[in-house]
Amino acid sequence: MRIGVLALQGAFIEHIHVLNRLGAETVEIRMPKHLANCDGLVIPGGESTTIAKLLSEYRLLEPIRTLAKNGAPVMGTCAGMIVLARRVDALGYPTLDLIDITVARNAFGRQVDSFETDLTVPVLGSKPYHGVFIRAPLIARVGPGVEVLCQLGNGDVVAARQRNIVALAFHPELTDDARWHGYFLKLTAGVTLAESSC
Ligand code: GLN
Repeated sequence: MRIGVLALQGAFIEHIHVLNRLGAETVEIRMPKHLANCDGLVIPGGESTTIAKLLSEYRLLEPIRTLAKNGAPVMGTCAGMIVLARRVDALGYPTLDLIDITVARNAFGRQVDSFETDLTVPVLGSKPYHGVFIRAPLIARVGPGVEVLCQLGNGDVVAARQRNIVALAFHPELTDDARWHGYFLKLTAGVTLAESSC
Protein backbone atom coordinates (compact mmCIF):
# COMPACT_ATOMS: atom_id res chain seq x y z
CA MET A 1 0.00 0.00 0.00
CA ARG A 2 1.19 3.44 -0.89
CA ILE A 3 0.01 6.25 1.41
CA GLY A 4 0.47 9.91 0.56
CA VAL A 5 1.22 12.25 3.47
CA LEU A 6 0.54 15.92 2.81
CA ALA A 7 3.91 17.58 3.46
CA LEU A 8 3.19 21.30 3.05
CA GLN A 9 3.53 22.16 6.77
CA GLY A 10 3.13 20.55 10.16
CA ALA A 11 3.78 17.13 11.70
CA PHE A 12 4.07 15.06 8.51
CA ILE A 13 7.37 13.29 9.37
CA GLU A 14 5.83 11.74 12.48
CA HIS A 15 2.95 10.29 10.42
CA ILE A 16 5.44 8.88 7.91
CA HIS A 17 7.37 7.14 10.70
CA VAL A 18 4.24 5.48 12.11
CA LEU A 19 2.99 4.39 8.67
CA ASN A 20 6.42 2.99 7.76
CA ARG A 21 6.59 1.16 11.08
CA LEU A 22 3.29 -0.52 10.14
CA GLY A 23 4.75 -1.58 6.78
CA ALA A 24 3.10 0.99 4.49
CA GLU A 25 5.03 2.73 1.74
CA THR A 26 4.71 6.53 2.00
CA VAL A 27 5.10 9.45 -0.35
CA GLU A 28 5.36 13.13 0.61
CA ILE A 29 2.73 15.19 -1.19
CA ARG A 30 3.64 18.73 -2.21
CA MET A 31 2.36 18.85 -5.77
CA PRO A 32 -0.63 17.29 -7.53
CA LYS A 33 1.60 14.87 -9.47
CA HIS A 34 2.77 13.27 -6.19
CA LEU A 35 -0.76 11.92 -5.67
CA ALA A 36 -0.45 9.49 -8.58
CA ASN A 37 -0.82 5.86 -7.44
CA CYS A 38 -1.65 6.77 -3.84
CA ASP A 39 -4.11 4.38 -2.19
CA GLY A 40 -4.81 6.76 0.68
CA LEU A 41 -3.83 10.15 2.09
CA VAL A 42 -3.00 11.50 5.55
CA ILE A 43 -3.31 15.23 6.27
CA PRO A 44 -1.28 16.13 9.37
CA GLY A 45 -1.75 18.66 12.13
CA GLY A 46 -0.01 22.00 12.04
CA GLU A 47 -1.50 25.38 11.30
CA SER A 48 -4.74 25.06 9.37
CA THR A 49 -4.65 28.56 7.86
CA THR A 50 -1.20 27.84 6.41
CA ILE A 51 -2.14 24.37 5.16
CA ALA A 52 -5.39 25.64 3.62
CA LYS A 53 -3.60 28.56 1.96
CA LEU A 54 -0.93 26.27 0.47
CA LEU A 55 -3.55 23.72 -0.68
CA SER A 56 -5.07 26.51 -2.78
CA GLU A 57 -1.77 27.97 -3.96
CA TYR A 58 -0.34 24.60 -5.01
CA ARG A 59 -3.61 23.66 -6.74
CA LEU A 60 -4.06 20.58 -4.59
CA LEU A 61 -7.73 21.02 -3.63
CA GLU A 62 -9.31 19.47 -6.72
CA PRO A 63 -6.81 16.58 -7.12
CA ILE A 64 -7.32 15.59 -3.45
CA ARG A 65 -11.11 15.82 -3.84
CA THR A 66 -10.89 13.58 -6.91
CA LEU A 67 -8.71 11.03 -5.08
CA ALA A 68 -11.24 10.91 -2.21
CA LYS A 69 -14.25 10.77 -4.53
CA ASN A 70 -12.63 7.80 -6.26
CA GLY A 71 -12.74 6.05 -2.89
CA ALA A 72 -9.22 6.51 -1.46
CA PRO A 73 -9.39 6.90 2.34
CA VAL A 74 -8.24 10.26 3.71
CA MET A 75 -7.42 10.81 7.40
CA GLY A 76 -7.00 14.35 8.71
CA THR A 77 -5.62 14.99 12.20
CA CYS A 78 -6.09 18.27 14.09
CA ALA A 79 -5.36 21.00 11.48
CA GLY A 80 -5.82 18.19 8.91
CA MET A 81 -9.34 17.65 10.23
CA ILE A 82 -10.02 21.38 9.90
CA VAL A 83 -9.11 21.45 6.21
CA LEU A 84 -11.26 18.34 5.53
CA ALA A 85 -14.40 19.85 7.06
CA ARG A 86 -17.42 21.24 5.24
CA ARG A 87 -17.55 24.30 7.50
CA VAL A 88 -15.02 26.01 9.74
CA ASP A 89 -15.44 29.24 11.66
CA ALA A 90 -13.07 31.96 10.47
CA LEU A 91 -10.49 30.10 8.40
CA GLY A 92 -10.33 32.54 5.48
CA TYR A 93 -9.48 29.90 2.86
CA PRO A 94 -11.54 27.19 1.20
CA THR A 95 -11.51 23.73 2.76
CA LEU A 96 -11.57 20.38 0.97
CA ASP A 97 -15.21 19.89 2.06
CA LEU A 98 -14.91 16.10 2.14
CA ILE A 99 -16.76 15.41 5.41
CA ASP A 100 -20.05 16.93 6.52
CA ILE A 101 -18.93 18.38 9.85
CA THR A 102 -18.62 21.89 11.25
CA VAL A 103 -15.39 22.45 13.13
CA ALA A 104 -14.61 25.01 15.83
CA ARG A 105 -10.91 25.91 15.81
CA ASN A 106 -8.93 26.28 19.04
CA ALA A 107 -12.03 25.09 20.83
CA PHE A 108 -10.24 24.31 24.08
CA GLY A 109 -8.47 27.64 24.36
CA ARG A 110 -4.87 28.71 23.79
CA GLN A 111 -1.60 26.76 23.63
CA VAL A 112 -1.50 26.44 27.44
CA ASP A 113 -4.84 24.67 27.29
CA SER A 114 -3.38 21.74 25.35
CA PHE A 115 -4.05 18.49 27.20
CA GLU A 116 -3.85 14.70 27.09
CA THR A 117 -6.64 12.36 28.08
CA ASP A 118 -7.68 8.72 27.78
CA LEU A 119 -10.42 8.22 25.22
CA THR A 120 -12.98 5.47 24.71
CA VAL A 121 -12.93 4.49 21.04
CA PRO A 122 -15.11 1.47 20.23
CA VAL A 123 -13.64 1.01 16.71
CA LEU A 124 -10.16 0.59 18.27
CA GLY A 125 -11.26 -2.02 20.83
CA SER A 126 -11.76 -1.88 24.58
CA LYS A 127 -8.32 -0.55 25.60
CA PRO A 128 -8.50 3.25 26.13
CA TYR A 129 -6.67 5.41 23.60
CA HIS A 130 -4.41 8.19 24.94
CA GLY A 131 -5.33 11.34 22.99
CA VAL A 132 -2.91 14.27 22.66
CA PHE A 133 -4.78 17.55 22.06
CA ILE A 134 -2.68 20.55 20.97
CA ARG A 135 -4.66 23.76 20.50
CA ALA A 136 -7.22 21.32 19.27
CA PRO A 137 -10.38 21.90 17.29
CA LEU A 138 -13.62 20.09 18.04
CA ILE A 139 -16.46 18.85 15.90
CA ALA A 140 -19.33 21.18 16.68
CA ARG A 141 -21.86 19.67 14.23
CA VAL A 142 -22.09 16.25 12.63
CA GLY A 143 -24.16 15.88 9.47
CA PRO A 144 -26.32 12.92 8.52
CA GLY A 145 -24.18 10.05 7.27
CA VAL A 146 -21.32 10.94 9.59
CA GLU A 147 -20.44 8.36 12.21
CA VAL A 148 -19.17 9.64 15.58
CA LEU A 149 -16.09 7.58 16.52
CA CYS A 150 -15.19 9.25 19.81
CA GLN A 151 -16.56 11.75 22.31
CA LEU A 152 -15.02 13.28 25.41
CA GLY A 153 -16.75 12.65 28.74
CA ASN A 154 -18.72 15.89 28.34
CA GLY A 155 -20.08 14.81 24.94
CA ASP A 156 -17.73 16.87 22.75
CA VAL A 157 -17.14 15.01 19.47
CA VAL A 158 -13.43 14.57 18.71
CA ALA A 159 -13.38 11.86 16.01
CA ALA A 160 -15.74 11.09 13.14
CA ARG A 161 -15.93 9.21 9.86
CA GLN A 162 -17.99 9.61 6.71
CA ARG A 163 -17.42 6.66 4.39
CA ASN A 164 -13.70 6.85 3.47
CA ILE A 165 -12.96 10.11 5.31
CA VAL A 166 -11.65 10.04 8.91
CA ALA A 167 -11.35 13.22 11.00
CA LEU A 168 -9.50 13.31 14.35
CA ALA A 169 -9.20 16.40 16.58
CA PHE A 170 -6.02 15.08 18.24
CA HIS A 171 -2.53 13.86 17.23
CA PRO A 172 -2.30 10.05 16.80
CA GLU A 173 1.24 10.39 15.39
CA LEU A 174 2.58 11.69 18.72
CA THR A 175 2.03 8.53 20.78
CA ASP A 176 3.46 5.01 20.49
CA ASP A 177 -0.03 3.63 20.05
CA ALA A 178 -0.42 3.08 16.30
CA ARG A 179 -4.03 1.88 16.40
CA TRP A 180 -5.47 4.88 14.48
CA HIS A 181 -2.97 4.41 11.65
CA GLY A 182 -3.76 0.68 11.72
CA TYR A 183 -7.47 1.50 11.45
CA PHE A 184 -6.75 3.80 8.51
CA LEU A 185 -4.59 1.20 6.74
CA LYS A 186 -7.35 -1.38 7.20
CA LEU A 187 -9.83 1.00 5.57
CA THR A 188 -7.36 1.52 2.72
CA ALA A 189 -6.72 -2.22 2.33
CA GLY A 190 -10.50 -2.75 2.16
CA VAL A 191 -10.82 -0.31 -0.73
CA THR A 192 -7.81 -1.77 -2.56
CA LEU A 193 -9.16 -5.33 -2.16
CA ALA A 194 -12.63 -4.31 -3.36
CA GLU A 195 -11.09 -2.71 -6.44
CA SER A 196 -8.90 -5.67 -7.33
CA SER A 197 -11.87 -8.04 -7.13
CA CYS A 198 -13.93 -6.00 -9.64
N1 GLN B 1 -4.92 25.33 16.26
C1 GLN B 1 -4.45 24.85 15.00
C2 GLN B 1 -5.25 25.41 13.84
O1 GLN B 1 -6.29 25.97 13.98
C3 GLN B 1 -4.46 23.35 14.93
C4 GLN B 1 -3.46 22.80 15.88
C5 GLN B 1 -2.87 21.50 15.51
O2 GLN B 1 -2.94 21.02 14.38
N2 GLN B 1 -2.21 20.93 16.47
O3 GLN B 1 -4.78 25.27 12.76
